[in-house]
Amino acid sequence: MNDLALAEGTLRECPGGAEALERIEHLERSWGRRLSLAPLRPPGPGPLDADVVFAGGGLWLTLAPYLARKGLKVVVLERHRAGTGHREWNISGPELQALVHGGLFTQQELDALVVARYSHGVCRWHDGGSWPVTGVLDHAVDGEAYLAAIRTRAEQAGVRILDGHSVDGLGAGPHGVLVRARDPRGAPVEVSARVLVDALGSSSPHARVDLGCPTVGGVLDGLEPGSDPDQVDQNVGDILVTTEHREEGRQHIWEGFPANDALTTYLFYYARAEALPARSLLALYGRFFRTLPRYKKGTPRVRRLTYGIIPGWSRLRPAPSAPLARVLLVGDAAARHSPLTFCGFGSMVRSFAAIGDGLLRCLDERRLTPADLDAIQPDLPLLQGVGALALLMAEPRPSLLGRDDPAATNRLLDAAFGSMHRSGNDFYASLLRDEMAPAAFVRFLYGTSLLRKEVYTDVWKFLGPGEVGRWALGIARGVSQGALGRGAEATGSLR
Ligand SMILES: Cc1cc2nc3c(=O)[nH]c(=O)nc-3n(C[C@H](O)[C@H](O)[C@H](O)COP(=O)(O)OP(=O)(O)OC[C@H]3O[C@@H](n4cnc5c(N)ncnc54)[C@H](O)[C@@H]3O)c2cc1C
Repeated sequence: MNDLALAEGTLRECPGGAEALERIEHLERSWGRRLSLAPLRPPGPGPLDADVVFAGGGLWLTLAPYLARKGLKVVVLERHRAGTGHREWNISGPELQALVHGGLFTQQELDALVVARYSHGVCRWHDGGSWPVTGVLDHAVDGEAYLAAIRTRAEQAGVRILDGHSVDGLGAGPHGVLVRARDPRGAPVEVSARVLVDALGSSSPHARVDLGCPTVGGVLDGLEPGSDPDQVDQNVGDILVTTEHREEGRQHIWEGFPANDALTTYLFYYARAEALPARSLLALYGRFFRTLPRYKKGTPRVRRLTYGIIPGWSRLRPAPSAPLARVLLVGDAAARHSPLTFCGFGSMVRSFAAIGDGLLRCLDERRLTPADLDAIQPDLPLLQGVGALALLMAEPRPSLLGRDDPAATNRLLDAAFGSMHRSGNDFYASLLRDEMAPAAFVRFLYGTSLLRKEVYTDVWKFLGPGEVGRWALGIARGVSQGALGRGAEATGSLR
């Protein structure tokens, strides 16, 4: 049986399987397609409906109560129900504190959202080593409860939430923005505001991604408990694990985070956005069911299915940016998260308060050009360098390949993670948390090249000369920005 047939048959047996099959087809068909918004006449002088209108009420709904509590009048337009979701998100404990400092949760409320804590996480490479790390993705947050709590806070702070409203038009001018949505009966609803927060995720008309990470999996029980790598240890998160070399040109990677006697596990691969195959998610689900026994032993039962194509931006192409004044991009629409870890939740937690404060300042000072709003969320200098690493794990380009070596990706990953591990936990963890200073990133690249000399030829096989040039430039820019104090410092040196 091929993977597509295996996936279809197995998914039908899973809870929510029929709905998942429809949704998967929709996601695959709409990948790369952007929402098109009809141009509207912007509002003239005079009173507006709100200070800020949100298009989209997914994860970045978090910003809405933050702004409303600072006194802004906020409206949210969401095509489904704002503040709903059904996956867990992993992050470290100290990073989560930003939600307490931002005033959205008390410590006790936050603790109640954490469904599991691990002593450490591990990255393990087929035919290579197992590299433990502490303080990375070691808290699992119940995403559904988190979003429900954010919605409650938004409502309590006076945010007007319009569920079932699909945004389809936008006009921006010197006096404000006008956003049009269709209500559940298809009737047009217009909201004027000083600023639009584009939180439409990857379907935003302004999103510009060049990486895609097809990701399938779910919450499984019935797997064998224990401390061997192919068992489930409730104290350990599998951050990144491979169980074979590159197959069909792709390096498949597992992640697995236990909670509540079950394992939330995903299988994914990195790909160039334009190179995603037609039925990427369904085929990957077939592989997931077929190769799961290589990853974990037991008699797995699916409690819940979770899947999607996570977008990323390599930094080797121009940044996503809105051409109109008064439009602020956030979340997947802005793609400011790491193209290596794809952690949109971590990135949101780390940045929502700074972005909220920046927006308040821009509104106060009436500085709302695209450049003003882009400057609210400067790209982390480190991230100028890590996108190319994701491309090094994507499918090699045949014209540049020469003779393929399917083991090369695992050997590269093993050298990279081995060198980070030997440099100390702070150094290792700082890369995975987007905190590494760019100069330390350069030391990491150098340390990896000492362990694996072929990395230089790998780079030429996976990236074209133009990309190598832009990567070098990005790293140099990142280092100079970091030297000016915008990159977080990570201690440790390569040995
Ligand atoms: C399977 C999977 C696992 C993941 N795991 C993790 C993880 O472990 N850790 C992590 O940090 N990140 C993870 N992510 C990524 C993370 O979920 C995203 O980065 C994050 O949700 C982006 O938030 P957002 O608000 O920008 O977009 P979204 O949360 O996607 O919200 C966009 C919202 O816009 C709405 N919308 C779209 N079009 C319209 C319209 N026309 N009108 C009105 N509303 C509209 C949508 O309905 C949606 O509610 C995962 C993603 C996937 C798919």
